Amino acid sequence: MRPLNIGIAGAGPAGLAAGMMLSRQGHRVEILERFDAASPVGSGLMLQPTGMTVLNALGLLPSMLALGSRIDRLYGADAKSGRTVLDVRYDALAGGRFGLAVQRAALFNTLHDAVITAGLPVRTGVTLADVRLAGGKAVLVDAEGHEAGAYDLVIDASGARSPLSAGSAAAPKVRELTYGAFWATLDSDGLVHDPHALVQRYDQAKVMIGILPAGRAQVGETERVAFFWSLRVADADRVREAGLNRWKAAILDYWPDCAPLLDQIADWEQLTLARYAHRTMRPPISGRVAFVGDSAHSTSPQLGQGANMALLDVAALAHALQTASDLDAALAAYAAARRNHVQLFQILSLLFTPFYQSDSTLLAWLRDRLVATIARTPPMQALLASIVSGTLIDPFAPAGLAECDWRAVGAGAEGLFRSASEAISA
Ligand SMILES: Cc1cc2nc3c(=O)[nH]c(=O)nc-3n(C[C@H](O)[C@H](O)[C@H](O)COP(=O)(O)OP(=O)(O)OC[C@H]3O[C@@H](n4cnc5c(N)ncnc54)[C@H](O)[C@@H]3O)c2cc1C
Repeated sequence: MRPLNIGIAGAGPAGLAAGMMLSRQGHRVEILERFDAASPVGSGLMLQPTGMTVLNALGLLPSMLALGSRIDRLYGADAKSGRTVLDVRYDALAGGRFGLAVQRAALFNTLHDAVITAGLPVRTGVTLADVRLAGGKAVLVDAEGHEAGAYDLVIDASGARSPLSAGSAAAPKVRELTYGAFWATLDSDGLVHDPHALVQRYDQAKVMIGILPAGRAQVGETERVAFFWSLRVADADRVREAGLNRWKAAILDYWPDCAPLLDQIADWEQLTLARYAHRTMRPPISGRVAFVGDSAHSTSPQLGQGANMALLDVAALAHALQTASDLDAALAAYAAARRNHVQLFQILSLLFTPFYQSDSTLLAWLRDRLVATIARTPPMQALLASIVSGTLIDPFAPAGLAECDWRAVGAGAEGLFRSASEAISA
C-alpha cells in the first residue's frame, strides 16, 4: 500500500505505540493529544507476555525490563481467615512466561522518548471531539469545532471515554462499573513483601486491597509499589469525609503489613480514584477510523490486560496495513484479527470481576470455597495462567507477531535488574 497520512488521537500507550510502528512502515503519522504536555495518568500496571512481545517488536522491551518488576505469581487471601483464595503462577505454563509490573510513567516515558527520538510530530493541547469524512479524507475536529487535520486514516487511541468512539456508527453500549479503586504509587521502604508477586487481601467481594511491586520510573530511581483499595465509586465521598485516619485504620485491621505504605499518605490528593467502564466496539472500525486500545474496548483491570490488548491492537493494525492490498481490506483484516481475542477477554473480565468487586456475598462465598479448591488442580492452574498471560487463544499470529523466547528474555532480564540495582548503589 502507498504511504498513508495518518492522524492518531491520543498519546497513551496505544497512540504512542501506533505512531512508532506505522512510521517505521513508511507512513506519515501525527499524534494529537489533549494535554498541554503529554504525560502518564495513574499508578502501576501489569505487562503480560502479549504486551511485552509487542514492545519487543518495537525494540523497547529491554528498556522496560530494566525499569519494571518481574512478577511470577498472583496471590490473594481472605483478610480475616488468611485462607488462600487465589494463587496463579505463570510457571504453571511451559515456556518460562512471566509478567512485568511497571509504573505507568515508565511505560509512558519509554514510548514517548522513542516517539520524540524518531522525530514524530506530537501536537499537544488539542482536545478532539469528532471525526468527519470530507473529500475522501477523515477530518479531525476539536472541541471548539475547528478542523485539526485531514488524513487518509485516523487511529483513535483516546481511551475509554473517547468522544470519537462514542460518536461513531459503531458506538458501544457503556456499562459503568459500580466498583472502582483508590490507587497510589508509594515507596516500598520498610514494607515486607514479595517483590515478584501481586498480593491481595479480600473481605468478601466488597473489600480488595492490593500491593503490586511496580519497579522504577527511571533508571537510577528506587523501586516503588502500586497500592490499591477497591470501593464502590458512589461511596468515595463518604469515605473521604470520614477521614484518612478512619480509612487507614480499616486497612490496618485487614492487613497490618500495609503500615509503611499508609504512613506515606497524608492527603487524599495522593490517591487517584479510578472508575471503570465496560464497553466493546464491534467492529472497531468505522469509515476511515480504526479504534485501538481502550477506545475500542475497556473493562475493569481485574485481569490486567488493558494496556496489553491496546498494544496487540496496534500490532494487528500495523500488520493488516502492511499485508492488505488497500485501506478498506486492511481495516477489515484488522477487525477480524482482533475479534476473537478481544471478545474472549472482555467476556472473561465481565465474568471474573464480580467475584472480586461486587456486593454479592454468594459470589464471594463461591470464590473462597469452590473456585479456590478447583483452582488448585493442575489443569485449572495452567488455564488461569494462560488467562492472566493473555494467551488463552493465540493473540500473536493474527497480529503478525512471534512470541518472545521468555527463558532467554528472563535470563537477560536478570542481568538488567542487576545493572539497574548497581546504578542505584553507585
Ligand atoms: C487503575 C487501573 C489499573 C490498570 N491496570 C492494568 C494492568 O495491570 N494491566 C493492563 O494491561 N492494563 C491495566 N489497566 C488498563 C490500562 O491502563 C488501559 O487499558 C490502557 O491505558 C489503555 O491505553 P490507551 O492508550 O488505549 O488509552 P489511555 O491510556 O487512556 O490513553 C488515552 C490518551 O488519549 C488522550 N485523550 C483522551 N481524550 C482525548 C481527546 N478528546 N482528544 C485528544 N486526546 C485525548 C488522553 O489524555 C491519553 O493520553 C488499568 C487501568 C486502570 C484505570
